[in-house]
Amino acid sequence: MSVTIPFPTNSPQRIAAVNAASHERIEPQSHGVFECTLTTVTPLCLKTHFAHVRREMTRKPPQAYLPGSSIRGAVRAMTEALGGGCARYFATPPSPPGAVRICNENGMCPCCRIFGFAAEHDTFAWASKVHFEDSDIAPVVWRRYPVPPFGGDPAAPGQGNGWLTFRHLTAPAPGAGEECVETGVVFPFRVRHHNLTPAEMALFYHALTLGGLHHILGFGKRCGLGACHIVVTNPPSPVPNAAAHICAPAWKVIQLERA
Ligand SMILES: [Zn+2]
Repeated sequence: MSVTIPFPTNSPQRIAAVNAASHERIEPQSHGVFECTLTTVTPLCLKTHFAHVRREMTRKPPQAYLPGSSIRGAVRAMTEALGGGCARYFATPPSPPGAVRICNENGMCPCCRIFGFAAEHDTFAWASKVHFEDSDIAPVVWRRYPVPPFGGDPAAPGQGNGWLTFRHLTAPAPGAGEECVETGVVFPFRVRHHNLTPAEMALFYHALTLGGLHHILGFGKRCGLGACHIVVTNPPSPVPNAAAHICAPAWKVIQLERA
C-alpha cells in the first residue's frame, strides 16, 4: 500500500557549494564506516539482480548478495521524503512547487549535499559523501511470489504532489511468480561516510535506520514484498536526533505509522 508524503511548503535548508562541507580533505572528526545489517521482513524481489545471482552463484546451499546501489537508492528516497530533498528525481507532473525546486551549485539541499549530483546542462558536479558497498554474501532460501507489474492496491491520494512511500504489509502467499529471497535473511553491509555536518549526519542516519520502521525495496512494494529492516551495529554515540531536520508532512506520516 502506498502513502504520499506531501511536498513541504518551506524549502529545505540550502547551502551554496562554496560554503558547504566539501571534499578537499577528509575531516578527521567526521568520517567512518557504519557496519549494518539488512534483514528481509517480507520476501524480497530484485528481478534482474537475482536472475544474475541465480545464474552465477550456483553453490549449494543457495547464496545471494544485495547491490549497494539498491540499498543506497532506498535510503536516498527516504532522505528526500523526510524533508531533506529537492525534486531532482521527481518526474511525474504536475511540476513540483518552488519549495522543492531542483538544486544547483548556488543552493544545495541536504540530500544533494549528502548523496551528490551532477547538474544538467552544466559542468558542476558534487561527489557523494556516503558510499554503500554491496552486501556480504549470505545463505538464502528462494521462493516464488506473485509480483503484479503495477498496482496491488489503489493509488495513494495526493500522488504527484509528494513523495511516494510504501507501507509494510503482510506478504502474499507464495505461488507462481518471481524468485524472491525469503523472509528472515540477514545481509551484512557497510556504508562509508565522510565530512557530513552534524545536521547532515542526523538526517542521513535517520533515513538509513528509519528509527526502526521498515524500508520497502524492489518489486511488489504495493502487495507486501520487500519490507526490510536496517540496523547499524556500531551506532554513533549519542545517536543523533533528527527531529529538527525532518519536514512537518513527513513527521506527521511517521507518527501515524508508529501509532
Ligand atoms: Zn537537492
